[in-house]
Order: sequence, then C-alpha cells, then structure tokens
Amino acid sequence: CGIVGYIGEQDATSILVEGLNKLEYRGYDSAGVALYDQGEINVVKKVGKLDELEDLVEEEQPQGQVGIGHTRWATHGKPSTPNSHPHQSNNQEFVVVHNGIIENYAEIKKELKEKGYNFASETDTEVIPNLIEEYYEDDLETTVRKIVDRLDGSYALAVMSKAEPDKLVAVRQDSPLIVGLGDGENFIGSDIPAILKHTDEVYILDDGEMAVITADAVELSTTDGEAVEKDIFEVDWDP
Ligand code: GLU
Repeated sequence: CGIVGYIGEQDATSILVEGLNKLEYRGYDSAGVALYDQGEINVVKKVGKLDELEDLVEEEQPQGQVGIGHTRWATHGKPSTPNSHPHQSNNQEFVVVHNGIIENYAEIKKELKEKGYNFASETDTEVIPNLIEEYYEDDLETTVRKIVDRLDGSYALAVMSKAEPDKLVAVRQDSPLIVGLGDGENFIGSDIPAILKHTDEVYILDDGEMAVITADAVELSTTDGEAVEKDIFEVDWDP
C-alpha cells in the first residue's frame, strides 16, 4: 500500500520508518524495511501497527545508507509477518517492495517452483524477487526490464540488491510512484508525503516508466529501454 526508499549518506532506517509513518493514513496491516550494509541485506518486518515495527527496529538496529520500506494492505495472503514486505529472493541477493496485484503470479510461481525455488509467503509479490534472481546476469536495470515484461497486473516496485548496492530501481504500472530529488541523496515514495520532509523536488513516474537511482543521479527510462526526459515537479505544500 505504501512504499519508501532511500539512498544517500544518512542513516536510512529512520528515514524509511518516518516515511512509512507519513503514509499511515492510507491504511495497512503490516510493515517492513530492508537495509543494505556491508555485503548483507537485513530485512525487518512485522504484521501489525508501525509501533511494532519500530520496537523491532529498535531491538535489531539494522544499519545502512540505502534501503526500502513498505506498508502492506494484503490482497493475496493473509496479514502475517511472512507475507509482509520486503520480500527476498531465494539467494538473498534481491529484495523487493510492491504495491498492487500481480494477476499471473500463480503461473509464474509454478514455473519457478519447477526450477527449484522455494516460497516463504502466500503473496503474489514473492515471484518478483525470484524472477529477478532467475533472469539476473550482471545488470539490475536490464533484468527489471525483462521481468516486468512477464508481469500482468498493477505494480509500483522498489528493488534493491546485494549485487549492485549503490542503486535502487523503481518501476510503475497502474500504481503511483515518485522519485524525490535530494543533494547527494535521493528518495522513492508511493506518494509525496513519504518524502516531503526531505525534498520538494520530485519526478512523478508514468505507467511503463522506471528510474535507476543512485545517491548522485536519477536516470529515467521506459521499460522498453528508451530514455525519458521529464520536468521536475515542485511541490508547493508545507511538509
Ligand atoms: N499484492 C501485494 C500483497 O498482497 C501488495 C499489497 C499492497 O499493495 O500493499 O502483498
């Protein structure tokens, strides 16, 4: 239901949790964050209110300057901790948060199971990180282009990897997603309030568009691989 992402030099955990708090008004049944730090991705997630995620974050103290977070409104699979996002690939290299519904997930799940993949959740979302693992050669951007071609339905996705930890990839189809532009840091949000404390300059992604986001740059393109030029949208509301 809500997505937030951060890449830069600040402590990502507090930025992600704060961003999720700003998206609470949209409603949710569970929440989670994933942080990349020194070759590892730490996922902290929990069914229930954000207070519970905050307690868990306090206990586990995930560190990192790049990360993604999610508040879930269950559509496939009951509200539970294993069904909460972020979802990780079998090899733990790739992690994804998703808003929307993957209509053809059952067919993809069957195909991946036949290839030996295990599934830890009942969600439609979990096919996505595993498809990325299956298709990944050496480039996350190209891989995301390939795998969205396999997906029917609606999605806003934020993807992080151990393979290319210096970037986040964001992509949307029929579910809102924006990129917030900072100075030496950049943000992803499903909605402006998630990032408004940090920046009032955003790119609003359109359907079939994706962004490759590093701390210093944001590159926009279509999922077909064509470069996109877009005006920066200046938000004129108060944080
Ligand atoms: N369909 C996904 C799920 O049930 C995402 C739901 C959402 O948009 O929060 O986990």
